[in-house]
Amino acid sequence: MPPDLAAVGAFRYHDFTMTTQTVKTRFAPSPTGYLHLGNIRTALFNALLARRQSGRFVLRIEDTDRERSRPEYIAALLDDLRWLGLDWQEGAGVGGPHAPYAQSERTAVYAEYYQRLDAVGHVYPCFCTPAELALSRKAQQSAGQPPRYAGTCAHLNEVERRARWERGLQPTLRFRVPPGRTVEFTDLVRGPQRFASDHIGDFVIRRADGGAQFFFVNAVDDSLMGITHVLRGEDHLTNTPRQLLLLEALGLPAPEYGHMALIVGAAGGPLSKREGDFSVRELRAAGYLPEALLNYLARLGHRYEHDEWMEPAELAAGFAVAHLGRAPAHYDEAQLLHWQTEVVGRAAPERLWTWMGSMVHERVPPDRREEFIAAVRPNTRFPADAVFWANRLFGGDWAPSDDSRTAIAAAGPAFFAQALAVYAEYGAAYRPLVEDLKRRTGAKGKDLFMPLRAALTGETHGPELARVLALLPPDVARRRLEACC
Ligand code: GLU
Repeated sequence: MPPDLAAVGAFRYHDFTMTTQTVKTRFAPSPTGYLHLGNIRTALFNALLARRQSGRFVLRIEDTDRERSRPEYIAALLDDLRWLGLDWQEGAGVGGPHAPYAQSERTAVYAEYYQRLDAVGHVYPCFCTPAELALSRKAQQSAGQPPRYAGTCAHLNEVERRARWERGLQPTLRFRVPPGRTVEFTDLVRGPQRFASDHIGDFVIRRADGGAQFFFVNAVDDSLMGITHVLRGEDHLTNTPRQLLLLEALGLPAPEYGHMALIVGAAGGPLSKREGDFSVRELRAAGYLPEALLNYLARLGHRYEHDEWMEPAELAAGFAVAHLGRAPAHYDEAQLLHWQTEVVGRAAPERLWTWMGSMVHERVPPDRREEFIAAVRPNTRFPADAVFWANRLFGGDWAPSDDSRTAIAAAGPAFFAQALAVYAEYGAAYRPLVEDLKRRTGAKGKDLFMPLRAALTGETHGPELARVLALLPPDVARRRLEACC
């Protein structure tokens, strides 16, 4: 639907109403690296919006940067999105009515739309070299003007163009931005926006090597694929007026855009390696579970009615564009760890067992699996924690912590002689064992439990002592108590 151009020098794009039109959102990554927290938050919000509205979520691969795009990054991002459970109904890997979904395969589509712009005189070849453009930008900057294309090639006649062709110059294709216009749109997150077209400057939509340029392919594909809503990072906000002008010139409908605040570090700067600049691969390898990332990211720059743990379907049901914040979203590792603890606390035992990995599988006897999981779950946030406890309970080389040496020394050998005696009598029957030990030694509370725990596990904190006692092979328990006598 072409916009209403009658408005004095300004135009508005129609508002899609979520009730009358199937919502279609997309994630459009450039496969030039692995997906990071920021990308997957964008993917997540678009997926949640589609799901919330019973719409469709599309995955489009923006691989027009031939030098930096790599097939292995495409494979990795498909894998990451699937691991996260961010399923798409249409797009790369699954196909759909607007295939192909990789921009590198859509050259013929773009050729047609370049042709259309050419036919209405909305584009022109630009022969300016990168060095000339840099010079012109510099001149504008020193004159205190915002850098924008000076229009050098905007009005070349045929003879001038031919002369440049003959010199062997390969032109880019520039979009002719209409002068004196105000581009207005209502951003889904940031509200009404106005941009003067005179500040934009004619921009490149096809590179000198014939490659399609981002502004163009991104806008054309959104429109052709029927995308109704685009949630993306606010670094794209100033691209939007350009893209709206392009779509207007092509007579193509535009989606609604919402520009989300970027994720920043605790101090407000860009994410660093210490502060959340992690790829999904790294987080997965570290043992993060997908629902932890989802629960965390869905709340990073978006507010839910309540702060409790939510299943992915609940995250979608409670998602609202109106709850997206404009303030920068600060990465907070403590929050991410909080949700990780929540997932580990909730995961089915079988799933946790697989997640704990081969070092645990090798260490823990098969018939103790369930008990082991129950014992260490509250003390486990990552597989490494489970490995730690598997070693402490079922062998492996380890030395007691300093705290536990102190606790053992404080209790003294006589305490452990009694402990051995009660163990011989009651074995893993925890209640009678501690009652009798209390009676025999007079120790109670911390003085009773701490040395016992320290002797049995080499730590002063850890899984419930009753569970530890039940899990420890009797000869191991006996040896550890003897070692303290
Ligand atoms: N390929 C673009 C990016 O990764 C997509 C931007 C957008 O969502 O429109 O930044």
